[in-house]
Amino acid sequence: MPIKGMKLCGAKCRTKEGSPCTQIAMKNGRCKMHGGCFYKKEIHGRYTLRAKAERKNEHALLREMKALSKEIEKSINENQAKS
Ligand SMILES: [Zn+2]
Repeated sequence: MPIKGMKLCGAKCRTKEGSPCTQIAMKNGRCKMHGGCFYKKEIHGRYTLRAKAERKNEHALLREMKALSKEIEKSINENQAKS
């Protein structure tokens, strides 16, 4: 149902009358059925921007931890060699 004051989609429908679409338009001037930005909003899953950023941070942390543990091992080995 159209709402007053909202921009309407206006795409030609494939009904008998061929009347323009009366759904609320999105940023690009079309509704979700007629080429609006429906899939661009973030959905849950592996490939969202947030998930990607989280994975990147986790990998960076893991790399840091590995480097640290290697350093610790090295220092332990050196101390054992000394004594
Ligand atoms: Zn439409």
